[in-house]
Amino acid sequence: MAIRVRKQVEFSFYEKSYLPEVARGVFVTLSHFFHNLFGRRATRPLQTLRYPYERRVYPQRFRGQHRLLAREDGSPRCVACYMCATACPAYCIHIVAAESPDPKIEKYPAAFEIDMLRCIYCGFCVEACPEDAIRMDTGIHTPAFLRREDAVVGRVDLMSLSGQAGTPPAFGAQNYREKKPAGA
Ligand code: SF4
Ligand code: SF4
Repeated sequence: MAIRVRKQVEFSFYEKSYLPEVARGVFVTLSHFFHNLFGRRATRPLQTLRYPYERRVYPQRFRGQHRLLAREDGSPRCVACYMCATACPAYCIHIVAAESPDPKIEKYPAAFEIDMLRCIYCGFCVEACPEDAIRMDTGIHTPAFLRREDAVVGRVDLMSLSGQAGTPPAFGAQNYREKKPAGA
């Protein structure tokens, strides 16, 4: 097998000194520094914000804390089918199914809990739900918890949250659950 020898590249004195490249690197660093310090917000979306006094507007598809949706009568839309818990790779959804008082519905979640410290915000539960009963469109970060047990959020708390106005389901602009109009 032929061995190929790379021709040695000759650097000029200017290149060997490295000083121009060092100066260029310092210039880039300083330009970002002053850019962040005095830059105009509208044209510089990566500018450092003075959180919590200033907050970034998240895109509509941002996956925030979960919420459970309710029917018109206020009962949970969830039918306790366990699809979300089965799809969850972090095993952080705990559901206890019970017989629904509504004869048209087989089951409802007597308990529905999500362990927020185990959740990896993948959105698989939202994807798996056949009832569009769980969404991650609240726009809320995982809150800070002082006690381990506070991180387990139950059905009542999940149902008390609302979605961001006009937010589509977590996975995009197209709500594939909506039925197409007749003839479409
Ligand atoms: S977002 Fe992912 S990890 Fe979190 S509860 Fe849903 S499926 Fe589980
Ligand atoms: S949230 Fe959806 S997927 Fe999970 S148990 Fe309820 S109906 Fe089934």
